Amino acid sequence: MNIVQPHLFIPGPTNIPEPVRQAMNIPMEDMRSPEFPKFTLPIFEDLKKVFKMKDGRVFIYPSSGTGAWESAITNTLAVGDKVLMSRFGQFSLLWVDMAERLGLKVELCDEEWGTGVPLEKYADILAKDKNHEIKAVFATHNETATGVTSDIAGVRKALDAAKHPALLFVDGVSSVGSLDMRMGEWGVDCCVSGSQKGFMLPTGLGILAVSQKALDVNKSTNGRMNRCFLSWEDMIKTNDLGFFPYTPATQLLRGLRASLDLIAAEGLENVFARHHRMGAAVRAAVDAWGLKLCAKEAKWHSDTVSAILTPDGIDANIVLKTAYYRYNTSLGTGLNKVAGKVFRIGHLGALDEGMIGGVLFNVEMALLDSGVNIKAGSGTGAAAEYFRKTATRSATGVDAPKAKAA
Ligand SMILES: *Cc1c(COP(=O)(O)O)cnc(C)c1O
Repeated sequence: MNIVQPHLFIPGPTNIPEPVRQAMNIPMEDMRSPEFPKFTLPIFEDLKKVFKMKDGRVFIYPSSGTGAWESAITNTLAVGDKVLMSRFGQFSLLWVDMAERLGLKVELCDEEWGTGVPLEKYADILAKDKNHEIKAVFATHNETATGVTSDIAGVRKALDAAKHPALLFVDGVSSVGSLDMRMGEWGVDCCVSGSQKGFMLPTGLGILAVSQKALDVNKSTNGRMNRCFLSWEDMIKTNDLGFFPYTPATQLLRGLRASLDLIAAEGLENVFARHHRMGAAVRAAVDAWGLKLCAKEAKWHSDTVSAILTPDGIDANIVLKTAYYRYNTSLGTGLNKVAGKVFRIGHLGALDEGMIGGVLFNVEMALLDSGVNIKAGSGTGAAAEYFRKTATRSATGVDAPKAKAA
């Protein structure tokens, strides 16, 4: 056993801020008490701000993000409906798998891992779908397996250019609360998230934000899928009064309250700017090491997770194991197609410069121990220079912190 907590740098679950942990360390409470709605109703309202919604509502399930994926599909679509999806990493792959198993007909764009949502192909397919057979378009905002962020505004443009009425579904599990998500502006109809990534909580809440359009479709479709536990109708009836159709995870909700307060206190835009700085510092280190990211081009770079390719002949699992056993550091593994080829550094949630510096230091040692030819101090040095150049806090504590993206 280590006297120091393992350094957790996987892209979820992320580190839990101390105020959030303490907010959850409370006795169990009565989820039907007359006081409970005073606590729950503002949570729904504050979540809407994080998703930047212009209308609609947010559902909170006692599930992981996968439950919210399923909720989006089963509450709006019917068996046999055609949908447009793309696959370029383990998470987009699993969403396609779910859609197929739930009986949707998937028109699939199979993309190279390390790229993202193919906007031109989407535009083409949507323009050709004159009869509007495609009922929903899916996009994984941040593919956590490869460290790729896709352009959701671009997907909206493709839909608008084709004057296509399909719903837009976005997986924001590893982006919401860390990267800018503008549901209202981008016309996103269902945005999926979970508690254990940007929200800095334990796993256990599936969070699904839905537009008014999605709610209208939910009301009007015939021959819909069966659903019970995930039913929006049951949720709406009780949520409107501040309650839930079944026992809510009250401690996680207390934690969510605390994390929403922390996010609001820092300022959403400052949170995004901080994530950009953390991501850019990691990328500066990767560059200085002479290594490559799995993300093929700069436009795909993710500010919440970096998947780093080990050089030919070096098994990424050795790097992961060395980091874990020798340096008490958990890094993300390579999943599926990229297993053994990449290791991932999660840089989302409650992180600052010193923590990123720490993980880069440990990764540097693990890389050297695994036989990767890099220079000790090169990556950490590059990150340090980047952080100093883009400092957001004053050195004297006098000025208010400012968001500054470089
Ligand atoms: C983590 C993750 C999921 C799965 O969420 P669970 O909470 O593990 O069910 C889905 N999509 C993306 C992009 C993720 O990062």
